[in-house]
Amino acid sequence: MNEFSWRSRLDSLERFKREVFDVLIIGGGITGAGLALDAAARGLKTALVEKRDFAAGTSSRSTKLIHGGLRYLEQFDFALVREALLEGSVLARIAPHQTEAFPFVIPIYADRRRNYDHPLIMRAGLFLYDLLAGRQNFAKHRRLSREEALNLAPQLDPNGLKGAFVYYDALTNDSRLVIEIIKAANQQGAAIANYAKVESYLRDANGKITGARLLNELSGERIELRARVTINATGVWMEEMIRLEGNSAEGLKKKLRPAKGIHLTIAANRLRVDAAWLIPSLTGHRFYFVVPWEDRVNIGTTDTDYEGGKDFPQAESDEVAEILNAINSYFPEANLDTSDVISAWAGLRPLISDANAKDTTKVSRKEEMIETADGLISIAGGKLTTYRAMAEHGIDLALKRLGSAAKATTKDIPISGGEMSRVELQQTARQIAAHYNLPNAVTRHLVFSYGSNFDALVRLMLDDERLREPLVAGLPHVKAELIYAARHEMAVSLTDALTRRTRLAMLAGSASLEIAPVAAELMADELGWDAAERARQLDLFAAEFAREYQANR
Ligand SMILES: Cc1cc2nc3c(=O)[nH]c(=O)nc-3n(C[C@H](O)[C@H](O)[C@H](O)COP(=O)(O)OP(=O)(O)OC[C@H]3O[C@@H](n4cnc5c(N)ncnc54)[C@H](O)[C@@H]3O)c2cc1C
Repeated sequence: MNEFSWRSRLDSLERFKREVFDVLIIGGGITGAGLALDAAARGLKTALVEKRDFAAGTSSRSTKLIHGGLRYLEQFDFALVREALLEGSVLARIAPHQTEAFPFVIPIYADRRRNYDHPLIMRAGLFLYDLLAGRQNFAKHRRLSREEALNLAPQLDPNGLKGAFVYYDALTNDSRLVIEIIKAANQQGAAIANYAKVESYLRDANGKITGARLLNELSGERIELRARVTINATGVWMEEMIRLEGNSAEGLKKKLRPAKGIHLTIAANRLRVDAAWLIPSLTGHRFYFVVPWEDRVNIGTTDTDYEGGKDFPQAESDEVAEILNAINSYFPEANLDTSDVISAWAGLRPLISDANAKDTTKVSRKEEMIETADGLISIAGGKLTTYRAMAEHGIDLALKRLGSAAKATTKDIPISGGEMSRVELQQTARQIAAHYNLPNAVTRHLVFSYGSNFDALVRLMLDDERLREPLVAGLPHVKAELIYAARHEMAVSLTDALTRRTRLAMLAGSASLEIAPVAAELMADELGWDAAERARQLDLFAAEFAREYQANR
């Protein structure tokens, strides 16, 4: 397993100063990650810079579905749904560890007001969904009896329940998907740095962009990076990056329209579901996903216009209450209250809309590419699911500028960890559990989180017995993951490791604060932290946790 660490980051920063890149990609969310892999795989000299950590923006705050988007059928967005369904099947091939086919269930009640739509309309929608997925479908939809439905969700309200529909999409771990794509881009030669913020552009005599001035957020150093093409993949920050240095974004026909969505993470024993469920909202024509995820249940999402600060959107108490009300009305036995919420987190959809679109639920999730007169290519919109196709379109355009016709190859390039199928991973999990005397839950977690890179983690645990120890009681994460995050996934802070590499801030909630000192001590050796730096890292993590994950503010 290649090193991809703080040292690689310093190497990239040195390369930024020395080399002239074909493409500079600004933004290390799923869009920037996909662009970097596509560009590097086509032989372009590629640089990727991210102002915070990879996936610190929207790409760690999604519902974590690889899906066609059943709801977009209502907007007759058939091409979008078809593209997303096909991309789902590509991901199942190139990212098997991060693409778990999963059943999604829609309850049907005798009282029509309790249904998302008329059952006949739902059935027609699901029929169309299967048709659009074609031969790539994970599995066809079918009707479940009332008993089958209750078996999958024993706390579901049985009064008036007639049955359910089940269809198939897939689950992923969004920030881990991003880091695996970034690691693959690095293996293809891309120079990559987190905590490197674009502050302004370099320009030639005609005002055309020829690169960017970066701030190394960890050292305060300023760096000039030269590139022939610059791509703005900053999601909800897209317009700010177009406007940087006073450029006007007024002339743009399309506008970036951030839409906020929150989620709650709940203990799996408080909401017992053996499939993902679509539960109608009580306040509008939409539904919440209830998704079993990493030994917890995630519930969301809301969808509202947003005008606040973009760096740290928060789940507000009225939004949390709205979700809990809907869930309690369909799962009355669960009787959830705010004390059940382990963490609550918010994200901003980078939707691109015409100025006259009414509300964000109606704005298309289709990607948009915008070229401005100074040569900047901006690409946003889209979904996690369609990142690969989006990247292909972006790099096609960049190549046109560079006068090259290199073909895209990412359909056939496994992302990092994507070399083994799910069946192989499953078998491997059993073998290493038996061979190294590890709990099955731990080895399953390791193979499906890290895919074919699991062996690097096993080696760490063989070299140092302490690294087999669990991090948080009741969760399968082990101490070796923190070392791996620092050595192979460019985690340069405690927060990177606990929020976006292991997801413990989200999954363990305030328990992640309790284990933070142990985690900081483990990472200190890797990253050369003294006592003062360890204390600073703990403060930074506590602040980010309070701002971005804490329930019951
Ligand atoms: C609530 C919610 C649920 C969703 N659920 C799903 C789902 O289940 N499935 C799905 O397919 N899609 C889903 N989406 C959509 C998907 O998450 C987004 O489309 C996607 O994550 C956007 O990725 P991005 O890379 O464009 O933006 P981001 O992830 O926000 O990345 C942009 C990056 O640019 C960086 N940046 C900004 N300015 C600078 C600068 N000056 N210099 C350097 N870097 C900079 C930011 O720090 C950020 O990391 C959901 C979205 C939301 C909000």
